[in-house]
Amino acid sequence: MAEAGTLHDAFIDELRDVYDGERQLTRALAKLARAATAAPLREAFESHLQETQSQIERLEHVFETLEEKVRGKHCNGIAGIVDEGKAIMEEDFDESTMDACLIAAGQRAEHYEIAAYGTLIAWARAMGHDEAAALLQQNLDEEKAADEKLSSLAEGGINQRAADAAHSGDKDPVGAGTSATKRRPAKAKAGRRSLVESRGE
Ligand code: ZN
Ligand code: FE
Ligand code: FE
Repeated sequence: MAEAGTLHDAFIDELRDVYDGERQLTRALAKLARAATAAPLREAFESHLQETQSQIERLEHVFETLEEKVRGKHCNGIAGIVDEGKAIMEEDFDESTMDACLIAAGQRAEHYEIAAYGTLIAWARAMGHDEAAALLQQNLDEEKAADEKLSSLAEGGINQRAADAAHSGDKDPVGAGTSATKRRPAKAKAGRRSLVESRGE
């Protein structure tokens, strides 16, 4: 039997995974950009696509600093997120709703990447791979900024436009005298309680 793998082996594995994920995302981001209606959203996807291309180069540099061959390993996680994004794009939503859904799809990818880079950086630091950690940190910072940008576009008008279109025929969208942004605390609490109960089983 082969010798048991080490954290260094796991690190190289995850590096290959994230490298493949980034490559899948370059194709996905181009599709998201084409599907977007709001110009600032399209631009956000396009600019993150450019960042992603430099992230791929940074990862190649990481492989080099570790004297490893540049190689990807199919990332099932990103593949699943990309598939869900494709399914959304095939739906027949109004333009603002589609934009809101494209943001939702994009943010799932960003959060997945943030988790992956967080782990890689922690492992690299623990093993003293400081140059690799610094390069990975640059990618992580870009993912966090991309995620925040998408949140600010969603909350800066796209969600509200979609919500207004959804309730354009309502005389009383949420309830008399209630702001449209207010939640119903009783309902939310009940939902949370049942989640806890189901976890306790
Ligand atoms: Zn190592
Ligand atoms: Fe990325
Ligand atoms: Fe990203």
